[in-house]
Amino acid sequence: MRTVDVLIVGAGFAGLRALHTFRGIGLDTVVLEADDAIGGVWNFNRYPGARCDVESFDYSYRFSPELEQEWRWTERYATQPEILKYINHVADRFDLRRDVELNTRVQTATLDENSLRWRVTSTDGREWEAERLILAVGQLSAPKNTTYPDQDQFEGRIIHSSRWPREEVDFAGKRVAIIGTGSSGVQMTPVIAEQAAHLTVFQRTANYSIPAANSPVSDEEDRAVKARYRERREAARNSPSGLGFTPDSRSAIEVPEDERNAAFEAAWNRLGFGFALTFKDILLNQESNDTASAFVRSKIAEQIVDPALRKKLIPQDFPFGTRRPSVDSGYFKAFNRPNVELVDINETPITGFTRSGLRTADAERVFDIVIYATGFDAFTGSLLKPVISGRGGMTLQAKWAAGPVSFLGMAVNAFPNMFIIVGPGSPSLLSNVLLSSEEQIDWLADLFAYCRDNRIDAVEATAEAERDWVAHVNERAEETLYLKTPSYYLGAEMPGKPRVFMPYSGGVRGYRRFLEDTAAKGYAGMSMHRAEATAA
Ligand code: NAP
Repeated sequence: MRTVDVLIVGAGFAGLRALHTFRGIGLDTVVLEADDAIGGVWNFNRYPGARCDVESFDYSYRFSPELEQEWRWTERYATQPEILKYINHVADRFDLRRDVELNTRVQTATLDENSLRWRVTSTDGREWEAERLILAVGQLSAPKNTTYPDQDQFEGRIIHSSRWPREEVDFAGKRVAIIGTGSSGVQMTPVIAEQAAHLTVFQRTANYSIPAANSPVSDEEDRAVKARYRERREAARNSPSGLGFTPDSRSAIEVPEDERNAAFEAAWNRLGFGFALTFKDILLNQESNDTASAFVRSKIAEQIVDPALRKKLIPQDFPFGTRRPSVDSGYFKAFNRPNVELVDINETPITGFTRSGLRTADAERVFDIVIYATGFDAFTGSLLKPVISGRGGMTLQAKWAAGPVSFLGMAVNAFPNMFIIVGPGSPSLLSNVLLSSEEQIDWLADLFAYCRDNRIDAVEATAEAERDWVAHVNERAEETLYLKTPSYYLGAEMPGKPRVFMPYSGGVRGYRRFLEDTAAKGYAGMSMHRAEATAA
């Protein structure tokens, strides 16, 4: 059994940053990673067309100004291979690999109530003991295991978007099905459409999508960003969602129609995902949202030639942004191609597989490859996979049976010394998630240093602080339009999952104020324990 100060689960962006930072303050730290490679979500999501929808200059680590200056992004929105290359570069540059144990899936983590330390086991029977347990397992890393009847019969190939094979998949001459039209389906559709003989996209819910406005990064732009990188990082930290820009402070409906449409047009052409932040209240006020939704619908309509297809592909039933909009590179235009077909599975549901393809209510369709782009058990899927047992043997599964609760999205009462990075209750998926993880890790490093200086063994969210934080997260959510639409923000993606709004909608700047305030008050809301005192 190896004994360490900090045990981190997950070697994605957050886990590696946490390793670097905690090691930097002198803590013996190890990362356990289930896969045989680092990179987390960017290791798994290798499907064609996968790229980030936050600008690379902002979706990158801010902890090292030297790294910032050295690394050269080639595109505004980096592709998955480039992001994975960056992660691997960082791992080598900061000598992180020596403390990452690959092929190590955590099975249990159990609090020893005497020592207030965590005992962690892996599925292959290895053991660790750690003072602090950090869960950096990602919010979109447990695939939703969609299946249809008779799947075993199918003689073709089945691939899940988030478990894409490492070797290239050859689509030439193939008949391909994509099930799902979230960001993954939207990104891969135009790329596969160009390669396959025939592509059928099965849509359950039409999705809003904004053009990526991607372009190569010129030397001039690279130099300009690097000359003021620190300011850019600060601007991102102080923007509502960590994307570096603030919305127009007016309501969309206060602005004359011409001016509003000009602002939407400019955002449409430049901001990608940030379109939702054109005006301050697009996600707060239904009337304002109506203007944005109408604008996006009209822009989608312009891209689709066939009126019947247009009707099916334009979302009508929910306000723009209340499910995560996609950022695309030619999604809607792909449906103008003769080899691409859309099947609305509300009209003609998929009833199961056949040996040669899929059966829908109206036909049997032949496929060589069926791709599930059906998404994830979001926010809690990966956190609840291992059996994590806190005080009195309480499991996290039991504690979160009615939905996740925490203080600041990071600490859970009855689970001392356990911390979650970008988990439910934090800005996570409503923000530049890499920036949000760095904020939390820096805050935790200060907390751990504080504990060391004050000879504190364990720190735990109080039940009261947890209750207040959950109430605050809910209050902020109620001010928004998010609650109007079933989405994975609300747990609606999985049958039977508790319907609780999971991310914190108060923004990264607002969230940081809570972090700073908690620290300034000597970590108010967290009880501090010495192991001997508890054991006595
Ligand atoms: P997703 O957004 O959850 O979309 C899943 C899609 O599959 C939806 O269209 C869903 O339909 C459909 N679906 C789910 N279960 C189904 C079933 N049983 N039968 C038929 N259709 C089904 O998942 P995702 O596309 O993988 O994206 C997840 C998130 O990952 C994104 O929102 C984003 O946060 C992130 N992501 C980001 C990028 C990027 O940075 N550019 C790229 C990919 C993913 P319903 O909507 O009706 O449930």
